[in-house]
Amino acid sequence: MSARIIKGTEVASQIREEIRAEAEVLKSTRGITPGLVTIIVGNNPASVSYVTAKQKTAKELGFYSIQENCPEDITEAELLSLIDKYNKDPLIHGILVQLPLPRLINETKVLYAIDPDKDVDGFHPVNMGRLMIGEALFYPCTPYGIQQLLVRSHINIDGAEVVVVGRSNIVGKPIAMMLCQKAQYANATVTICHTGTKDLTSHTRRADILIVAAGRPRAITAEMVKEGAVVIDVGVNRIGQTPEGKARLCGDVDFEGVKEKASAITPVPGGVGPMTITMLMLNTLRAAELK
Ligand code: NAP
Repeated sequence: MSARIIKGTEVASQIREEIRAEAEVLKSTRGITPGLVTIIVGNNPASVSYVTAKQKTAKELGFYSIQENCPEDITEAELLSLIDKYNKDPLIHGILVQLPLPRLINETKVLYAIDPDKDVDGFHPVNMGRLMIGEALFYPCTPYGIQQLLVRSHINIDGAEVVVVGRSNIVGKPIAMMLCQKAQYANATVTICHTGTKDLTSHTRRADILIVAAGRPRAITAEMVKEGAVVIDVGVNRIGQTPEGKARLCGDVDFEGVKEKASAITPVPGGVGPMTITMLMLNTLRAAELK
């Protein structure tokens, strides 16, 4: 059996069309244009490319968007005051600070300074807490993208055995919390694995839905996967360069081996990746609608 390939690029473009249409309605009925500011400190090439992609998508969707390029030596106080300015700006509904920040700036303090109602990345502890109790305002973008990929690929989550490999605050923990809620598109039995897990394979082999966010190239092999499982590969690992000089990417799952055993699988690239920016746009639209 060869798995169905879950094409994130296609699902993402379908959701973007829905966002564009909803944004137009918001503009025509209430005169509100969703506004997003992206704040970047320094010029780390990966961060610049992520922020550029977010700005490009926001513009394509007709959003009002601002990019703040801060110098590497900006002080923490200056950055906090910039966030405060956008917290008060009625034209801005979403504030995104691109991570990582320079060593001398306290990342936690900066993220906590964002108004939770404008925290479209969903990382503020208020939003994490809301997610935990099933009252989420914004879901973090990558977990939200994973849930949408499952739902729109008609994969049943209710009652499924879900195993998540990885417990980061941006992927592993929030997706586990989302899928175990007593709610629609959730209600799964969820296990979280990490480097302290004894016998990882005994858990991954039980999974109806296996979500891997470990940051370890091709760590999940076919023997670790149950026949017919749905496999969501969140990992993005740079493993050299293509002849054209672009980064060669692979996921945390051995795609070639696992696709022969799974019933459905996300590729890398083109799986979870395109969903993340799309969900950021959806969160920005929702933040604007809340006004
Ligand atoms: P992270 O903060 O490094 O966390 C990795 C997690 O995986 C940790 O909890 C770690 O356990 C666990 N882990 C590592 N090796 C393991 C192993 N051999 N067995 C079991 N657990 C293991 O990573 P992250 O930020 O969640 O990102 C994970 C991957 O997803 C990365 O490749 C990242 O680039 C990618 N990512 C992609 C997107 C996207 O939009 N596509 C977004 C975010 C992240 P411990 O806690 O015990 O250390």
